[in-house]
Amino acid sequence: MDNRSIAQSIAQLARMSAGDGQVCGLTAAQWSTLRFFARANRFSRTVSAFAEFHATTRGTASQTVKGLVSEGYLTRSRSDLDGRSVRFDLTDKGRSALSQDPLDALSEAIGKLAPGVRNQLASSLKRLTEEVAGSRGKPSFGSCRFCCHLACALRKSGEEQSYACDLLEQPLAANDLDDLCVNFETAPSDAAARARRNRKTS
Ligand code: SF4
Repeated sequence: MDNRSIAQSIAQLARMSAGDGQVCGLTAAQWSTLRFFARANRFSRTVSAFAEFHATTRGTASQTVKGLVSEGYLTRSRSDLDGRSVRFDLTDKGRSALSQDPLDALSEAIGKLAPGVRNQLASSLKRLTEEVAGSRGKPSFGSCRFCCHLACALRKSGEEQSYACDLLEQPLAANDLDDLCVNFETAPSDAAARARRNRKTS
């Protein structure tokens, strides 16, 4: 298969899984918005971060988010990081809609792949996302585990691991580490990332 055919297959898979009107009357853009706010960390649950992720304008993203707030799928509140910005969170209704997400069919199909194939697919898609986002001067998004700004330390009392974001100077919980972040930057290399993560606080 040539490169263009592979690109078309990826786009076709995305279209088939978009879920336009299939459940709860939600449009493809609304599904995409709910999925983003379910996976984004607390620094990234904003309209501007969603606009970057969805490769759309801030105005379009704002309209979609506004509609989901008025329909009770999202709530808005002041960001605890920056009192001027607004953060959006899923409501119970939003979480309930996602439990019927049309994307689950693709997710289940991926789960049937052999572990090696699945891991290769994940790393290839990550690389493709970084290449395409980089060529457009857009953030590629990613999670703390693979970010150069993640700092890890062993607490002095006991051996409990603690985490923080060097860039935002904010503590992180262990269950934050897989969330999507608009400020993500790929660690320069696995070795450098490991060294950074193992740095101990004094
Ligand atoms: S460590 Fe990286 S991915 Fe995690 S919050 Fe900080 S900038 Fe975002």
